[in-house]
Amino acid sequence: MSCIFCKIAGGEIPVAKLYEDEDVVAFRDLNPQAPLHFLVIPRKHLAGPAAITAEDERLTGKVLRVGAEVARKEGRSDFRFVVNNGPQAGQTVFHFHLHVLAGRDLTWPPG
Ligand code: AMP
Repeated sequence: MSCIFCKIAGGEIPVAKLYEDEDVVAFRDLNPQAPLHFLVIPRKHLAGPAAITAEDERLTGKVLRVGAEVARKEGRSDFRFVVNNGPQAGQTVFHFHLHVLAGRDLTWPPG
């Protein structure tokens, strides 16, 4: 298993976890881009949003729900979700992940 986020989901690489259950794990980003910056991943390996199939709809919807709930638990009502697909869009880890950013003004459009 060479995928770093599969290793995180499997507990092989320690991270600062904010939430986990049988389907998803939420943990702080190693290189935070905002006062609150965490990732939510499905335990199931999906290379990115373009790899989602109909059978993953419930799971990826749960990723969004958990992202919002963890943000709320961290005291944030305003936050941004980001999901990158492909290197040109900034994807560096090819296991689907939701970025949740909060705690500073976030510009639009993103750079
Ligand atoms: P992306 O560029 O959208 O693929 O996002 C990958 C994110 O994973 C980056 O924000 C990295 O800082 C983060 N990251 C990579 N390795 C780790 C790790 N071991 N623990 C926490 N975050 C990580």
